Amino acid sequence: MCGIAGYASSKPTSLATSIVLSILIELQHRGQESAGLATVSLDGYIEVRSGRGTVIEALLNGLTVDMSHRDVFGAIAHTRYSTSGGYMDSVPQPIVIGNGDYRFALAVNGTIANYKMLAKTFGIEGNYNDAQVLANVLYRLALEHNRDVIEALKSFSETAVGGYSVVILTSEPRLVIARDPYGFRPLAYSYNDEEIAVASETAALDVVGYNNWAEVGAGEIISFDGKSLERTHSITATFSPCAFEYVYISRLDSVFNNVNIYTARVQMGYELSKMMPVEADIVVPVPDSGRGAAIGYSRGSGIPLEEGLVINRYLGRGFILPPGLRDVVAKLKYGFIKTAIQGKKVILVDDSIVRGTTMAAIASRLRKYGAKEVHIRISSPPFRYPCFMGIDVASRSELLAWRKMDLVDIASYLNADTVAYNTVENIVKSIGINTLCLACFTGTYPFKGLGVEDLEEMFSR
Ligand code: SF4
Repeated sequence: MCGIAGYASSKPTSLATSIVLSILIELQHRGQESAGLATVSLDGYIEVRSGRGTVIEALLNGLTVDMSHRDVFGAIAHTRYSTSGGYMDSVPQPIVIGNGDYRFALAVNGTIANYKMLAKTFGIEGNYNDAQVLANVLYRLALEHNRDVIEALKSFSETAVGGYSVVILTSEPRLVIARDPYGFRPLAYSYNDEEIAVASETAALDVVGYNNWAEVGAGEIISFDGKSLERTHSITATFSPCAFEYVYISRLDSVFNNVNIYTARVQMGYELSKMMPVEADIVVPVPDSGRGAAIGYSRGSGIPLEEGLVINRYLGRGFILPPGLRDVVAKLKYGFIKTAIQGKKVILVDDSIVRGTTMAAIASRLRKYGAKEVHIRISSPPFRYPCFMGIDVASRSELLAWRKMDLVDIASYLNADTVAYNTVENIVKSIGINTLCLACFTGTYPFKGLGVEDLEEMFSR
């Protein structure tokens, strides 16, 4: 669950750095641990900068000022949320690999579940994370294919287990973008014969002014060398876009696989209100992630929507923060509008409960500030299984719904009167794609013959 961005032009330009940074700022919600940027000049010189923190902390506070004056072919950038390797061990991207006259920089959004096995197969030694193994394997495959990273991506798709959207900037120079064959993670681009701009989400392109965008198809590989756009495909697989992108990850103003995120989220809340009604005075969203579903719940139930919580936007998204900081953030993140909640029966709507840390803190404080009843409604099904395709929940023991399977137990743990979740059927109905990945809710993964135990073992060895 990182954000990736790219830009390349048919004419050398000093604008590449600022365009890519602008796109990356619009993807900040996808990760705040580190940010990095790489440029390539027409003669193949790759320069990379990175730092810890948000895009502004890591890159805009001076680090990239000198880069922004140089004419280059293109740039790629990455904002990081660690999915393997841990927070403090996290390696900023883009990763630059190669030497001599063939190099490339790579940034990835996703997780390669079998990266340890791939490292062994390709003889890659060292304590590398999945992104580093991906870069190393692709580089070796590119060398085997006459320095053709497109052929390398095709070969990689035959052996990789996981989800990945990538941007690659080669020393040729060339900008290559690709989505894995299952299409787990989003990737979009805008092309106009002279330039190409790339982003994890369509909203980032829209905001920066690239409104004429298209989504990269599942398994599609697109390459721009400054003269023309080349398209090809890796192996085919069952189209399995991540349902959690619709539930939580993507911005409300993004489109993923032609489905508007806002519309899908409102519909999830609407379906939930019909299936799990409760008598109450107000519907209160957990900002910002529960807002779309709360609007839908209010519409479906006829119960008025009220703002009851105020989010501190400077603390970041609780779910994507590193483990050591989650408890602190859960307490500091929300203020409460006492006049709105005092004496009221409150329906609190959020998109998901992963570990339960944040929700328990909110429900307790709603009561402290005078709520008569607190009913929690979650627009997704219980999150019971880990994801190996780009979300940092490596173990089932971390998941609240796994630890406390019974709804009464979960309500008691969260200090709520009742708790209800949406169903898988309602999620599919709200999004309108029948082959979604729903593995974190169902335990059925799109990879043939691989169950949760196989993937857990694969990921840890
Ligand atoms: S397991 Fe869940 S979070 Fe992971 S790709 Fe599938 S739907 Fe998305």
